[in-house]
Amino acid sequence: MTPAGYCGRFAPSPTGPLHAGSLVAALGSWLDARAQGGRWLVRIEDVDAPRSIAGVDTFILHQLAALGLHPDETPVYQSQRSATYDAALAKLRTAGWLYPCQCSRKQIVDELTRLGRPPGRGAELVYPGACRQRTLAALRAAWRIRTDLVCTEPVRWYDRRLGWQTQQVEQSVGDFPLRRADGCHTYQLAVVVDDAAQGVTHIVRGEDLADNTARQILLQQALGLPQPRYLHLPLVYGTNGEKLSKQNGAAPLDLANPIAALHRAASVLGLKTPEPLNTALPDALNAWVAAWRELYNPARV
Ligand code: GLU
Repeated sequence: MTPAGYCGRFAPSPTGPLHAGSLVAALGSWLDARAQGGRWLVRIEDVDAPRSIAGVDTFILHQLAALGLHPDETPVYQSQRSATYDAALAKLRTAGWLYPCQCSRKQIVDELTRLGRPPGRGAELVYPGACRQRTLAALRAAWRIRTDLVCTEPVRWYDRRLGWQTQQVEQSVGDFPLRRADGCHTYQLAVVVDDAAQGVTHIVRGEDLADNTARQILLQQALGLPQPRYLHLPLVYGTNGEKLSKQNGAAPLDLANPIAALHRAASVLGLKTPEPLNTALPDALNAWVAAWRELYNPARV
């Protein structure tokens, strides 16, 4: 049983320490939970074992503590939840919504080209459903979901900052994988199962993840899970104009000066903060909770 009421979360992948961009998501989700008197959880998204780096989880939790962002419960690790993800897969398989797929990237490109839809350079591959009708051994196969059977309508959802969004998942993404051929469950599956299991009511995260939301709503519908509310936050860009990310080597936060790091994140969030940089951490965080209430008034957005 999960307690009723607001529940938010911050869900870092332990692929590198928090940087100025990830702090915006951490702070925004924390402020929204505090502004609404709710719970705030931290979930370590280490479902992709090959990409997770040992020890980074502990470092991220240490960074959050240094910033005064303390989770209300012991963090959950996705690496320990495979059985729950398998149960969700079994449910979808029984419903006839999954199929095994052994297509390589090259085969997908060739099939799209044959269909007259050659993908552009670097573009995301929209899976054309080539394995839908094939009968393959499930061994060393990925499992994909029949987006056409689960949801025939475009997915329409409301973002508290971006407004109404629509995506026709089959056309924009295709049948996406829930388990990879190497046995790893995918982010899409794990995030949906965990948000529901933890009773998460409000998802506050970076705008780069907004494009995943329709897929996640489709999965919530397939699994009969409640749909949380969504708020996607502004991103932080480096001097080269690219979004800060662990992949492009964003510098870890400077923990010698947590208030300065929080100040930067708060200004990206559009929070007016006249706080001097020497304010005590709890006072500054309280001031930002009040500023957040003004800007993202939960009654309005
Ligand atoms: N684990 C994801 C990341 O670090 C975030 C997932 C989410 O907030 O839904 O980018």
